[in-house]
Amino acid sequence: MKRIMLILSAAVLIASCGSQNEVNKLEKATGTMSEVLPKVKIPKANASQIAADVAFLASDDLEGRDTGSDGILAAAKYLQNRLHEIGLQPYKGDFFDDFDAKGAKAFNVVGMLPGTDGVLKDEIVVIGAHYDHIGFMKAVAGDSLANGANDNATGTASVLAIAQALKQIDFNRRTVVFALFSAEEKGLLGSKHLAKRMKSEKENVVAMLNFEMIGTPMVGREYIAYITGHDKSNMASVFNKANTSRLVTGKLDKAVEYNLFMRSDNYPFFNEFQVPAQTFSTFDFTNFKYYHQPGDEVSEVNAPHMAAVVDAVMPGIMAVLNNERLKMMANE
Ligand SMILES: [Zn+2]
Repeated sequence: MKRIMLILSAAVLIASCGSQNEVNKLEKATGTMSEVLPKVKIPKANASQIAADVAFLASDDLEGRDTGSDGILAAAKYLQNRLHEIGLQPYKGDFFDDFDAKGAKAFNVVGMLPGTDGVLKDEIVVIGAHYDHIGFMKAVAGDSLANGANDNATGTASVLAIAQALKQIDFNRRTVVFALFSAEEKGLLGSKHLAKRMKSEKENVVAMLNFEMIGTPMVGREYIAYITGHDKSNMASVFNKANTSRLVTGKLDKAVEYNLFMRSDNYPFFNEFQVPAQTFSTFDFTNFKYYHQPGDEVSEVNAPHMAAVVDAVMPGIMAVLNNERLKMMANE
């Protein structure tokens, strides 16, 4: 009983403070991080904030956030403000990571939460989503504006919600880089740029978690989201083990069939660093009919579901940031 009390009071300290001293004390008091982590209080994601972020990004005013447009510049400024307001540091002094996207001026929006452990802070976990979309297209029923609500204002808003929760918890031994990518729709250009930049700057990226199209619930599955490249690492089992209240993730055959592992912003990080780098998604090819269509509007996505996805993945994220280092599967 005494031991349990000790763990609980230490966990309260962690939740409120999270400084390196407290982390050390906590580890000494409890032995292992796997005993500590379940006691850390994770705040619930705010569905109204997620809805507001998606609504802004997918509004007609932003004209579908095509790379190089005025609309995507407005989106980038909004995201910079959100990262700043959440309390993240600009990545290497600048929230904007500029690059050239086939002649168009483009920028990833990147913030950082430094690690709290003297040694593990040199290991970086990148958590990302693309915020660009495809702009105008051939009209359907008189609407030519592809708003990109599900693709990928939803992933972007979920990364903001994760950043908010992690800032509040203030207990991440590894450093987190939050990367909102541009020019994904032009061929993963933003993530290729940042992954190459981080590689050339000799950053020690140990994992990358990406979020794509999480706006609608999956149909007929026990898990809430699938991960691409399911069998390439132990990510699924780490996330499922960390969350004791629900099954988080599984393998979707369609994701394998369409090789989604190579089709989003996780892939350049896998390529550069050869570490677990995977995408979480709930688009199952049956639950959303407006992929790259003008009908991909804010009215078609579900904010409480997105908040539930964030809540479901948070224990796994805490494990990856503090405890387990994800491993590539031996047979891949
Ligand atoms: Zn997308």
